[in-house]
Amino acid sequence: MTFPTKSVVLTFHASPYNIPMPTACACFFSGWLAGIFLEYALHWIMHRFALGFHIGHHREFFHLPPRAVAVRTLDPRLDLLFFAAVLAVCSPLMLVWPWWAVTLVWAGALWHVVFVYEACHALMHHEAWLPKVLRESRAFRWWRGCHFEHHFHAPAANFSVTCPWLDILFRTYAPPRPSYAELPHPKLRPEGDGITV
Ligand SMILES: [Zn+2]
Ligand SMILES: [Zn+2]
Repeated sequence: MTFPTKSVVLTFHASPYNIPMPTACACFFSGWLAGIFLEYALHWIMHRFALGFHIGHHREFFHLPPRAVAVRTLDPRLDLLFFAAVLAVCSPLMLVWPWWAVTLVWAGALWHVVFVYEACHALMHHEAWLPKVLRESRAFRWWRGCHFEHHFHAPAANFSVTCPWLDILFRTYAPPRPSYAELPHPKLRPEGDGITV
């Protein structure tokens, strides 16, 4: 009976390209990290140039129930078009670096923006989708409060939805005020939402 050697264990067995697993993971997680910064930059650009779809989201926040706001933000078509364009623009890099490395970095960024960011943003707007123990945690209330501070009072601050520490880093952090950082805001307590103070 033979056992796989270390080098075999650390590679994609089915891959004809013999891609080293640690390098593949490093590429993907670098892309994920880049995606976190990209999220911040894109949100900043949306406000700097008053892009209509995002201004619409800010308007809806004041007029629609939280569930409708959350559902209407879950439209990945624009994200996917954007990332298709990014891949097209970055494709010449494949002449310099392995195609799979470029693709994995790109996939890491796409994973963050299309899945992680979109899910976090929707859950912030309709926290009833989360377990009670989580949505009532101090960490969640601060995290969601940062985005609500952005919506209610500070559209030129708190650009990072998923990682508010980036706003501290770039000096665009506006601390959420206690009225909705620590207690469920009335907007999040519509009839039948199941959320109690
Ligand atoms: Zn929002
Ligand atoms: Zn915004």
